[in-house]
Amino acid sequence: MANYFDRLRLFSGDEWMDQMRPDETDEIEAYMDDDDEPFHDDDLDLKVPEVIGILPIRNTVVYPGTVTHLAVGRERSKALLKNTEPNETVIGLLTQRNPDTDRPEFGDLYSVGTTASVLKTIKMPQGSINIVVHGIARFRLVERVATRPYLKARIKMLHVRTKMTKQLQALAVSVRHSANRMIALSPNIPEEASVLLENIEDPSSLADFLAANLSMDLPQRQALLVELDPGKRLETISVVLAHQLEVLELSHKIQGRVRESIDKTQREYFLQEQLKAIQTELGQQDARTEELRELHENIAKAKMPKSVEEEALRELDRLNKIPAASPEYSVIRTYLDWVCELPWSVQTQDQLDIARAERILNRDHYDLTKIKKRILEFLAVRKLNPTGKSPILCFIGPPGVGKTSLGKSIARSMGRKFVRISLGGIRDEADIRGHRRTYIGALPGRILQELRKCGSRNPVFMLDEMDKIGADFRGDPSSALLEVLDPEQNNTFTDHYLDQPFDLSTVMFIGTANYAEPIPPALQDRMGIIELPGYTTQEKLNIAKKYLVPRQLKEHGLKEVHLTIKEEALATIIASYTREAGVRNLERNIAAICRAVATEIARRDKRRRTIGKKDLASILGPTQFESELALRSGIPGVATGLAYTPVGGELLFIESAAMPGKGHLQLTGQIGNVMKESAQAAFSVIKANAKRLDIDVKQFGRFDYHIHVPAGAVPKDGPSAGVAMFTSLVSLLLHKPTRPEVAMTGEITLRGLVLPIGGLKEKLLAAKEAGIKKVILPARNRKDIADIRPETIKGLDLVFVENTDDVLKAALDGMT
Ligand code: ADP
Repeated sequence: MANYFDRLRLFSGDEWMDQMRPDETDEIEAYMDDDDEPFHDDDLDLKVPEVIGILPIRNTVVYPGTVTHLAVGRERSKALLKNTEPNETVIGLLTQRNPDTDRPEFGDLYSVGTTASVLKTIKMPQGSINIVVHGIARFRLVERVATRPYLKARIKMLHVRTKMTKQLQALAVSVRHSANRMIALSPNIPEEASVLLENIEDPSSLADFLAANLSMDLPQRQALLVELDPGKRLETISVVLAHQLEVLELSHKIQGRVRESIDKTQREYFLQEQLKAIQTELGQQDARTEELRELHENIAKAKMPKSVEEEALRELDRLNKIPAASPEYSVIRTYLDWVCELPWSVQTQDQLDIARAERILNRDHYDLTKIKKRILEFLAVRKLNPTGKSPILCFIGPPGVGKTSLGKSIARSMGRKFVRISLGGIRDEADIRGHRRTYIGALPGRILQELRKCGSRNPVFMLDEMDKIGADFRGDPSSALLEVLDPEQNNTFTDHYLDQPFDLSTVMFIGTANYAEPIPPALQDRMGIIELPGYTTQEKLNIAKKYLVPRQLKEHGLKEVHLTIKEEALATIIASYTREAGVRNLERNIAAICRAVATEIARRDKRRRTIGKKDLASILGPTQFESELALRSGIPGVATGLAYTPVGGELLFIESAAMPGKGHLQLTGQIGNVMKESAQAAFSVIKANAKRLDIDVKQFGRFDYHIHVPAGAVPKDGPSAGVAMFTSLVSLLLHKPTRPEVAMTGEITLRGLVLPIGGLKEKLLAAKEAGIKKVILPARNRKDIADIRPETIKGLDLVFVENTDDVLKAALDGMT
C-alpha cells in the first residue's frame, strides 16, 4: 500500500496539483514521500475522541484517504504536535479561509475539515517541523473548547453513505475515462497511475483522490470536502476534468506544431551548414562571402531611407540563405544592385545665380526673349524659396524650335544634370512605374532607370512628347505621370519594382509637346505652359548665322577662316531645302555643308571655302521644295488656304473640279471629318446663294463636283479651310480664277458668316514665307494680331472679313 501513495504523489505532479507553492506555504507542503509506512485503509482502527486538537492549514484541503506533507512553523501548531503521538493521536485539520491570516482563530477557519493521523514528524534545521499526515474522515466543528496552548474543539464525524446506483457507476466510469486520458496526455504522470485509478472502486474515494490531485481553487476544494454526496462530487470533478483535458489537448496540439516548426528550421539549418561545407570544399564560399560583404557595404554606402535599408537588409539576409545557383538568387541580387545604385542621397548643389543663368540662356539661344524671361523668373522664385513647390514647365511648339536645348541650358545654368525620356508611344503604366518583382525579367520604370543612369536625385528631367502618350488595356500611363508631376505626391513615388517610395520632389521636371490639346487636362493643370511658335525666315537666318553655323563649324573641327557660308546660301536653304517651323533641318543642312568642306580641307584639296547659293546643289543636291504658288494659281477652281499642323503653319492648295453628273459633292485628300463637313457647308451656302452670286443653278443638276486637298504628309482637319473651299468652288462655278497672291483662312456657317480660327501666328508665318501678299482673315481674329510681332506680318496685307461676300470681294478677280 505504500506504493499506492508513492504513486499517488507522483500522480499529483505539477500538472495535476499546484495548490501549494512552497513560497506561500508555512505549515503546508505537499510532496512525495518514499519512506512512508504502509497504510491501512481502515480508518476506523483509530478511535476518535470527541474533543481533538485542531491544526489550521492554509492553501490546501486534505481529503480522507490521502497522504499530505505539511510544514509546521507556528507556535500553537508546534504545541499541538508536542502532544501528538504519531499514528495514534487523531488531530483535526481545518483550512483557513484566508491563507494570509497569521494567527488564525476559530472564526478564520472553515468549519468542516478532515481528521488525520500524523504518520511522521521530521525536525528541520531552522526549527520548523515537517509532518506527513494521513486524512481519515470528514468532521464538523461543533464547539470551540480552547485556544491555548493550541486550538481544541468538540467535533462531530460526518459519514459518507454511498448508495451504488447505475447513474453513479456511469459517472465513475466516465470520470475514470477522462482521468486516464489526462494521464496519457501528461508526460509527467507515469502510465502506472491509470492502474492505480482502476483500483479505487469506491466512488467517494475516487472523488477524493481526484479532488486532491486536480488543480482547483481553494473554495472549490473546500466545497468538495463539505459535499457528502459522492455523485455530486464526481459531477463537479467531471466538469473540472473536462476543462483541464481541453486545455491539455490544446497545449498538446500547440506543442506539436512548435515541435514541427523547430524540426523544419533545424533541418534547414543543418542542410545549410552542409551546403556551406560543400561550398567551402569547392572554394565557392569565400567568393560568396565576399560578394555578400560587398553588397552589405553598398547598402550602407547608398545612404537610403531607413525603411528601404531595412528591406534591403532583409533581402540580403534571404540571399544569404539561398544557394547561388537558384534562379531566385539572381532576382534578389539584381534587386539589391538596383536599390544600391539609385541616387538616394547623391545630388548636385544648385547654382541659382540669375545673371549667370541669363548669360547661358543667351549664349545658347537667339531671341526667345519672353521665354527666357519666364525661365529666369522661375529660377528666381526657386532661389528665394528653394523648398517651395514651383510649377512644372512645359514647352509647347513645333519640332526644332529649341525646346530640348532650352531644357539643357536650364540644367547647365543651375548646375544640374540633364536627362530626357520620350513619352511618345508609351501605352503601359509599367513603362513609367516598372513591373512588380514577381514578373520574370522585371525592371524599374523609365523614371528610376534614368535617375540611376544620371546618378543624381535632382536632375532636370525632360519628358518629351507629352502629347503622344497613349492609353490601353495595360493601364493609363498618364495617371502614373500625374503622380510623378504632383508635388504633393511625388516625394513618395512608388515604383512597382522597387516597392519602396523614392523622393522625386527635388527633380525638376520639364515637359515638351507639339500641341497642348492632346495632353490630358489633368496633366496640363499641373504645368506652366510656355509656347514656342515657329521662327520667321529672318529669325531663322539670324539663328543660323549667330548660332548654328558657329556651332557646326566647331563640331566639325573647322575654324571660321576655313568656311564662310554666304547669307544668300542660308536663305536658299531656308526657302528651298527646308520646310519647317523650327531650325532642325536647317542645322542638318549646315552640318552637311560643314562635312563636305571638312573633307576637302582634310584632303588638302582646299584651304578655305566660301559657299554661295550656286554651290548648294553640288553639296545638298537639287532643291526639295518649290513655291507652288505660281503653278497653282491662275486657274479657276483653285484657292489657297492656310493650315496649322504639328510642324507649324502651311499653305493649303484647294482644288475643285466639275464633271458630268447629278450635283453630288465628293471630297478627297488626307482630310478629317470636320473638314469634310465644312466642305458640305460651303457647298450648301453656294447653292442657297446661287442666284445672288450669278451662278447658273441648272449646273447643279448636270454636274458632280469634286474638292481635293492635295499634298502634305501631315493629315489635316479642322473647320478653318471652310472659306478656302467656298472660294475654290465659287471660282470654279463662275470660271473666275482667285488672285494668285491671296491666301485665306476661316470657318463658315450655313448663313455665310466667317468665324475665327486658331494658330494665327503660324499661319501668317507660313503665308509670308511663301510670298503671299494678302491674307483674308475672320474679323473676329483681329484682336489676336496684337500678340504677333510686327516683323512677322510686315509686308502682309491683312483683310478682315465678316461674311462670304467679303471673302469673294477680296479673293476673286473681277468681283466687286
Ligand atoms: P525641339 O526640342 O524643340 O524639337 P531642339 O531643342 O532639338 O528642338 O532644337 C533643334 C536645334 O535648333 C538645336 O540644335 C537648337 O540648339 C537649335 N535652336 C532652336 N532654337 C534656337 C534658338 N532660338 N537659338 C539658337 N539655336 C536654336
